[in-house]
Amino acid sequence: MPDLDLIITPLPAFKDNYLWLLVRGDEAAIVDPGDAEPVIQALEQRKLRLRAILATHHHADHVGGAMALKQRYGAAVYGPARENIAAVDHPLANGDQIEVLATKFQVLDIPGHTAGHIAFFAAQLNPPAVFCGDTLFACGCGRLFEGTPEQMLTSLDRLAALPVTTRVYCGHEYTVANIRFAMAVEPGNRELQARAASATAMRRRGEPTLPSTIGLELATNPFMRCDNPAVRAAASGLATGAGFARVSTFAAMRSWKDGFQ
Ligand code: ZN
Ligand code: FE
Repeated sequence: MPDLDLIITPLPAFKDNYLWLLVRGDEAAIVDPGDAEPVIQALEQRKLRLRAILATHHHADHVGGAMALKQRYGAAVYGPARENIAAVDHPLANGDQIEVLATKFQVLDIPGHTAGHIAFFAAQLNPPAVFCGDTLFACGCGRLFEGTPEQMLTSLDRLAALPVTTRVYCGHEYTVANIRFAMAVEPGNRELQARAASATAMRRRGEPTLPSTIGLELATNPFMRCDNPAVRAAASGLATGAGFARVSTFAAMRSWKDGFQ
């Protein structure tokens, strides 16, 4: 098994969810199976054995298929200890390490979207990979259903501290809409302009815009750029963002985005 690469592919579900399928040899794991059907199809088509289910948070579009898959395949189910997810038999807390498909994953607490939201970070992959559910999106971040702006900002800071080469596997294809908002915040950001063009082209070809990378998010995601003067100024509605605290910058942008069409 160690000689085979870990291959990560998205299985689209519902309107814009991605369930991430991990495959090594003839064994598989699935991240955030909101629906069992596309997973069963992929496993049967490719004759894979499902060994593990990883859940980032309790929302139905991320765990709705977990119980059916567990019962059908007897896979181990990993998920946040601080959330109530019926299928989970391996509750995880910050700093825990698990091994899935001969790959070590470190658990990071990243609350804000939900109170117990976790991420799975695989440092040893080349490049490294993080599965972050609905916390960090390409050019955006999750809505604050159960957390405060302060919590979400701390969670994004934890993700920002991962190696810049880390591939970012998010739970939804929201990139093009997120970029439209990011352009309203920071119209002069050249890398953002380039990203707008490439993401639009990818969607036109029917391709996923994910995974992203931590480096690309640091350069283009306004929610990861609360220290940037242009972002602060836009969020504060002032010509300069001086005196507007980092967390107020984040909070102002989050509520701006909530009402952004
Ligand atoms: Zn969610
Ligand atoms: Fe979701």
